[in-house]
Amino acid sequence: MTKLLGGEAVRAGTRCLTLFVTIGMGLVPLLAHARPFDDPRSDRIRALDDDTAFVAEPRDPACHAPVLASTGGALPKNPRTLAIRWTGFSNFELVYNGQIVLLDAYFDRGSLYPSLGFKAADVKKADAILIGHGHHDHMSDAASVGARTGATVVGAPVTTEKLATQPIDPKQVRTVTGRGGEVLQFGAFKVEPILGQHGDPPAQLVDAFDAALKATTTPPTPEQLAEQAAIRQRGTQDRRVRTEGTIAYLITLDNGFRIMYRDSGGRVTDFEKAAMERVGRVDVGLIAVSAAYLNSATVAQAREHVRTYKPDVYIPAHHDAAFNNLWRATEPLFQAVKDDDPRIITVSRGYREPTCFHTDYNISRGQ
Ligand SMILES: [Zn+2]
Repeated sequence: MTKLLGGEAVRAGTRCLTLFVTIGMGLVPLLAHARPFDDPRSDRIRALDDDTAFVAEPRDPACHAPVLASTGGALPKNPRTLAIRWTGFSNFELVYNGQIVLLDAYFDRGSLYPSLGFKAADVKKADAILIGHGHHDHMSDAASVGARTGATVVGAPVTTEKLATQPIDPKQVRTVTGRGGEVLQFGAFKVEPILGQHGDPPAQLVDAFDAALKATTTPPTPEQLAEQAAIRQRGTQDRRVRTEGTIAYLITLDNGFRIMYRDSGGRVTDFEKAAMERVGRVDVGLIAVSAAYLNSATVAQAREHVRTYKPDVYIPAHHDAAFNNLWRATEPLFQAVKDDDPRIITVSRGYREPTCFHTDYNISRGQ
């Protein structure tokens, strides 16, 4: 407790390092912000506050503006800064050391969904696109964005079979199984695919909720149905997606900072358990919420994920929804994982809002 209070005091001292000068009748702030961004672990990692080099850096627009680097926004000024942006469903943009990695690619969702604030056609820069699985709400824009950016697109066999029918150069596509021994390197990003498992919420439950929603909302127009059918065409419904087509990605930066990404809220597999036994914990978990509607079920699944990956910072995914559907509540998950481990930091932000990390502070370096 004393430590925490000490950290708070130091932070109060640095964050509010605002000098005022008197010009005419008013007070004008001279130095408004005393650090480039607020790392969500600031309360936990005391050294972040004592790092004078970090605190002295100017405010970094890449860590404040809601504009993706892949659509023309700023890249972090410090190459050791990782900027993470969630862009709906299980999409994330990771920017680090001048490189851009996209996780999933489902941007043009149609008029039944809230806008993400950009279109697939706006995504012009990316080095790699990692597809968790081949359902349309995870890969529908992978081919077009991959072709435009020249990014390598990575996915399970059932995912890349679908890509092979789409307009993208097969030389850009990498097939992975996640059964061990596969390591991909994209600049400072080391990527290890790990076979996961798709979510499988009980049909009885899902059907009942879907029927209630259908009975209480405005039905889609024929145009909207056609629009959705066209988007759905750009993904696969192959049954193999569930058992051999859902890939989790363990991403390790060049300084040891670790991220676990999982784009579907299914059970943890033996492959994931083995990978986590090897590395222990991760700094950040980007983890899809189960589609089981009821908090009792989504909480139980989130607990299994968090107990396996042991992230310092838990960032949920796949929790937003179409206008006529329900967002999956994140607060019950946050409360449950904190009841398990009060040190866990939970972060959920709006579309495109950045969360930045000073990655030199990471678990593998003992911080
Ligand atoms: Zn799916």
